[in-house]
Amino acid sequence: MDQPADVGVYVHFPWCRRLCPYCDFPVVVVADQPPHRAYLDDVQAELAAQAPRFAGRTLATIYLGGGTPSWWDPACIAELLAAIRATFPGTPAEVTVEANPIDCTPATMAAWRAAGVTRLSIGVQSWDAAELAALGRDHRVGDGPAAIAAAIAAGFASLSADVILGAPGVAPPPDGEAPASIHAAAASGVDHVSVYELTIEERTAFGKRHRAGRLPVLADEQLAALFEATHHALTAAGFEHYEVSSYARPGRRAVHNGRYWTGGEYLGLGVGAASFWRDPAGGGARWHNHRKLDAYRDPARRLAEHTTFDAAELARDLLWLGMRTSDGVARAAVPADAAAWALAHGLVEDDGARLRPTLRGFLLSNQLAARLSG
Ligand code: SF4
Repeated sequence: MDQPADVGVYVHFPWCRRLCPYCDFPVVVVADQPPHRAYLDDVQAELAAQAPRFAGRTLATIYLGGGTPSWWDPACIAELLAAIRATFPGTPAEVTVEANPIDCTPATMAAWRAAGVTRLSIGVQSWDAAELAALGRDHRVGDGPAAIAAAIAAGFASLSADVILGAPGVAPPPDGEAPASIHAAAASGVDHVSVYELTIEERTAFGKRHRAGRLPVLADEQLAALFEATHHALTAAGFEHYEVSSYARPGRRAVHNGRYWTGGEYLGLGVGAASFWRDPAGGGARWHNHRKLDAYRDPARRLAEHTTFDAAELARDLLWLGMRTSDGVARAAVPADAAAWALAHGLVEDDGARLRPTLRGFLLSNQLAARLSG
């Protein structure tokens, strides 16, 4: 492989005002204020330490995720973005901030715009009061649409909304119908919708209630029906289903996230953040930071895991990731028996050059990807 041309930078801001009962992200809950400037100092020091590894790359994208990065003092965000831009040459194609609806005030959004943020990913999660309550969210049903309207008014040309399917204890719509939140998202003015099925992670509050038999979750078949109806509703509304959980209006796919699925390099900064580096000679390395804040803040303890991979392993990973996207993978990269199996089960379509997942393939994406990448 030639020298990678560019790098995406991810920054994790771990603080949240409360812990959602389904959340398994690296999160720190505080009631008052997070240490805005001290954390900026940590991340900037880490940027300076890590950047030499990505020397020669231009800056492709920046993504601030969390946690709740929209809670970070906008002045700190501005300084951080300036520092990243000063570190790598080039103009990023996309600068995204994940935003809690309650942070989307006119003043904050103006500050983000002035700092160079081009895209917001707004954690609406649902347009239904009962679902928001069941998910334990800290915003009310009007906050999501108000945030989208305010972001449009503030001049953001690129907006994504997150929607969670399968809130516990809430009756799903009749068979074949998409949830009201999906129709609302499609009509809200966003150009991108990320749809996640609620997953119950062991170490969360929902995980505990589930083990005790006290969480009324949907059956797998009900979730699959919701996924299918969601697909039909969003594609009928003009969205392209381009990755298992991602829908975009034409030309509005998420650029930063696309790097994760196509083997683009990324530098992850902050608590729990993951990095991916490719060796020009083939193969490369992945590493991620500690999920605990105190360990992250100590450079000697920051690194939680570092693994290397060779060219063959990378090729298998890219096959696995490619089968989670509508672009699929090159026909020639898939072993003949695995391709025949996927075609026989209606999981992929073959256009002669590429194998692309069908809707059924998206539904069974993990099994499909595992089988094809052998
Ligand atoms: S707001 Fe997001 S990151 Fe924070 S606790 Fe809730 S789900 Fe987790």
